[in-house]
Amino acid sequence: MAQNHLLIVGSMAFDDLDLPTVEARDVVGGSATYASIAASHFVPVRAVAVVGGDFPQAAIDDLGKRGVDCAGIERAEGKTFRWWGRYAKDLCSRTTLDTQLNVFADFKPKLPDSFKKSPYVLLGNIHPALQLDVLSQIDKPRLVAADTMNFWIEGERKLLGQVLEKLDLLVVNDEELRQLAGIHNLKRAARAVLSMGPKRLVVKRGEFGALLFDSDGSFFVPAYPLEDEIDPTGAGDSFAGALLGVLAQSDSADRATFRRALHAASTVASFCVEGVGTKRLGGIDSGSIQKRQAELRTLVHPGD
Ligand code: AMP
Repeated sequence: MAQNHLLIVGSMAFDDLDLPTVEARDVVGGSATYASIAASHFVPVRAVAVVGGDFPQAAIDDLGKRGVDCAGIERAEGKTFRWWGRYAKDLCSRTTLDTQLNVFADFKPKLPDSFKKSPYVLLGNIHPALQLDVLSQIDKPRLVAADTMNFWIEGERKLLGQVLEKLDLLVVNDEELRQLAGIHNLKRAARAVLSMGPKRLVVKRGEFGALLFDSDGSFFVPAYPLEDEIDPTGAGDSFAGALLGVLAQSDSADRATFRRALHAASTVASFCVEGVGTKRLGGIDSGSIQKRQAELRTLVHPGD
């Protein structure tokens, strides 16, 4: 059976991370990087992003070795996108200290012809205008999902609204959901956001797991309890990448597949938190994912 490709557009970045245990600088990150690595465990990925002259070619080559087609990653003149975040001691919240769009400010994505027929699409966290632009170049995708963050909810509300109308699935965290809806209660906020367009909504809640809201009602997936929580950066993108990866691999988004995909997503995201940047996420294999996913199931299954 032919494999379904997953197209991922998002940021590729240098991150400066103020973590409770360590200060890390110039860490290779970005939504496309995390999501592509996570998804590559399940399907062949096509990545669309832009980097500057300062971005290490080795990081792009590493994606290539994982089965990520990097023909859509443009190297532009100028500096790579930068993000600086500071985490609270409990890692539950973070503050953005600086965002520098750099080469993203003038990025006009042009999809390689070989990318235009991509059945599964993840519009990773990036300017909503770029999400729309990429989507307009894809020929009849089967499933389109998107992520976003407070930066775009605050600054690009109107364009984000246009993205929402086109989505089969929106994946956001609880803070973003509340901000988008202007409602604190999660269930009410979910209902409000679903009325903006997406057919399904997944709300990531960090160590408290994730919730799915759709026409079947709601479903909960726990987070895998970790002993070593080092760096949650990219966990949300890894979650979305793995979720879409399993849907594309199964070529289905029916109720059972979707719920199984959520288990895989939660599992893969948990690995991301165990190391700075992509260090831990990049070192796992399908065996370690399956083992941890089985543990996650026993965590909530009451048995007989
Ligand atoms: P997450 O922890 O899953 O929300 O993702 C963190 C990643 O998002 C970091 O690697 C950042 O480089 C990237 N990021 C932060 N702010 C933005 C932004 N405004 N647009 C796109 N990517 C961003």
